Amino acid sequence: MLEIKNLHVGLEEEDKQILKGVDLKVGAGEVHAIMGPNGSGKSTLSYVLSGRDGYEVTEGSATLLGEELLDMEPEERAAAGLFLAFQYPVEIPGVGNMTFMRTALNAQRKARGEEEMSAADFLKLVREKAKTLKIDADMLKRPVNVGFSGGEKKRNEVLQMAVLEPKMCILDETDSGLDVDAMKLVSDGVNALRDAGRSFLVITHYQRLLNHIQPDVVHIMSEGRIIKTGGPELALEVEENGYADLRGEVA
Ligand code: ADP
Ligand code: MG
Ligand code: MG
Repeated sequence: MLEIKNLHVGLEEEDKQILKGVDLKVGAGEVHAIMGPNGSGKSTLSYVLSGRDGYEVTEGSATLLGEELLDMEPEERAAAGLFLAFQYPVEIPGVGNMTFMRTALNAQRKARGEEEMSAADFLKLVREKAKTLKIDADMLKRPVNVGFSGGEKKRNEVLQMAVLEPKMCILDETDSGLDVDAMKLVSDGVNALRDAGRSFLVITHYQRLLNHIQPDVVHIMSEGRIIKTGGPELALEVEENGYADLRGEVA
């Protein structure tokens, strides 16, 4: 599904290397977690994959289903099946949640040469997805994320994911700022979307999210590199001993 090879990334504005040779391979239907201390480059990795400005790829590649992502515009990456759920979802005053999702969905369909979805069909689709994810229909009528609680914003990201049906979903610290109940709702939503043809990269600073979204593979990132890869037990090890221990071990 996703293959990252020797990815080196710096900042455009200043001479600073952030990612220093990241290698990562995510198979179809797999859930991989990336853990690591603050500042290790986890968000940078997700931004670079989604095509955000300000970063410069100096070496390496990242392919989605065999196609080079790094050569694509952000909207082409989305149409190819990539989805990034943000750590801090943005509020968009004046744009209705339904309009936003329908516009995004139809832009992707258009880019893939498919027909646009009618308003009636879209309404049916969203209502169905919202019901499955136990999302209040009220949330659909409001402007995107405006006045949403932290938990509602994250659930809205999961709803967008359900509607857009991406193949590769990246969740950057979706658990930050969520209480246990909200985290459970978001995790249930993600688990409902797990599928043999869909993969997830779950970025988190803490192990607790991984009690709810059980990963197949856990990677530890430190100082711009993946320093260790293992099974779910690796997350527990980190929880117990911290990252410092692991860095020492690797060094
Ligand atoms: P993480 O998500 O693991 O906490 P980040 O990817 O946010 O790490 O950051 C990695 C490093 O790169 C940090 O030292 C951060 O300060 C720096 N960094 C990332 N983006 C920028 C930017 N746009 N300008 C300056 N420094 C940045
Ligand atoms: Mg951070
Ligand atoms: Mg981050």
